[in-house]
Amino acid sequence: MLIKLTDVLAYEDKVIQTKAPLEMDFFDIKSGKFEIVFKSDVNLLLTNVGNKNITIEAKADLTVSIPCDRCLEPVKTKFHIDVTKDVNLGLIEENRENELDEKDYIMGYDLDVDKLIYAEILINWPMKVLCKDSCKGICNRCGANLNLGECGCDRAELDPRMAVIRDIFNNSKQ
Ligand SMILES: [Zn+2]
Ligand SMILES: [Zn+2]
Repeated sequence: MLIKLTDVLAYEDKVIQTKAPLEMDFFDIKSGKFEIVFKSDVNLLLTNVGNKNITIEAKADLTVSIPCDRCLEPVKTKFHIDVTKDVNLGLIEENRENELDEKDYIMGYDLDVDKLIYAEILINWPMKVLCKDSCKGICNRCGANLNLGECGCDRAELDPRMAVIRDIFNNSKQ
């Protein structure tokens, strides 16, 4: 959703408090597409700090379903977004494009709320997701979820050809 930033430019110290719904239902990154199973509205506080500078404060809560790194079962992973951004809308158009290169959530005089939140989720994306610390993972022979019980395979030595199949299996589930 786009929020107009021109209203807050009306005069210095002007503050606008508003809410915006998130439009995205999935979080799409290189490593996959993850379902957003819960999302709050985004609470926004826009403050005119003078000379066309705006402070944007955004808060939101999301829950994203991410597969466990070991057993691939979905894990509801919470993100609490609380971010403050300073944006100068006074720069002339071409300078602004350079300055805002990484601020792709500003489109002209509009704030793209989804893009802002997307960038924050990306920054906070966990290196590792486990359903539980003691997750036993999947059998590297038959692919059974070992948290649900022993599959009976002999995993003492892993045939390298099976390792390849396991990798294909893992990749196809992501
Ligand atoms: Zn697990
Ligand atoms: Zn097995």
